[in-house]
Amino acid sequence: MERRAVSAGDNIDSQCTRCKALLNHTIVAMVGTLVVRVKCNTCGSEHNHRPAKEAKEAREPKAAVTRSTAAKPARATAGRTKTPVLSDEAIWEEAIAPHDPDKAVPYSMNATFRSNTLVSHPTFGIGLVAATQAGKIEVVFKSGRKLLRTA
Ligand SMILES: [Zn+2]
Repeated sequence: MERRAVSAGDNIDSQCTRCKALLNHTIVAMVGTLVVRVKCNTCGSEHNHRPAKEAKEAREPKAAVTRSTAAKPARATAGRTKTPVLSDEAIWEEAIAPHDPDKAVPYSMNATFRSNTLVSHPTFGIGLVAATQAGKIEVVFKSGRKLLRTA
C-alpha cells in the first residue's frame, strides 16, 4: 500500500456521533496504525473513530431497534373506554319497561300528570313522566328528556 500512514493530529473522515454525518475529524489517539479516537472539526466532540464503511454496517442493527420500538402498541391507553354513558334511547327503554304502553295517557296541555306514569305524545311518542313541576312535567322520551307544559 502506498497510503500515507496517518498519525495523531492528522485529519481523517469519520462518522461524527453528534453531527450524524461523515465529517473531517482530527485524530486524537491511535493504537498502532489504527485510529481509535477522533475529534470532530465541526462540533468539537471527541469520540471513537468510525470510518464510513463501518458506520453503515453499525447503523443496520440500530434501524432494526428503532423499527421494533415503533411497533410497540402505543394505543394501550387510547383504546381504554370510559364508563359507558347510556344513550337517551337506552334510558327511555329502561324507564318505560315496567309500564304497560296501552295505559299511556295522551298528553294534553290541559291535563295534569303524576310522575312515574306513561304519557303518549303526538310527536315524541310514549314517554315516562320523570318529574313534575308547577305547570310542567319532565318526560323521558326515546329522543331524550323533554319539558312539557301541563295544567
Ligand atoms: Zn461533529
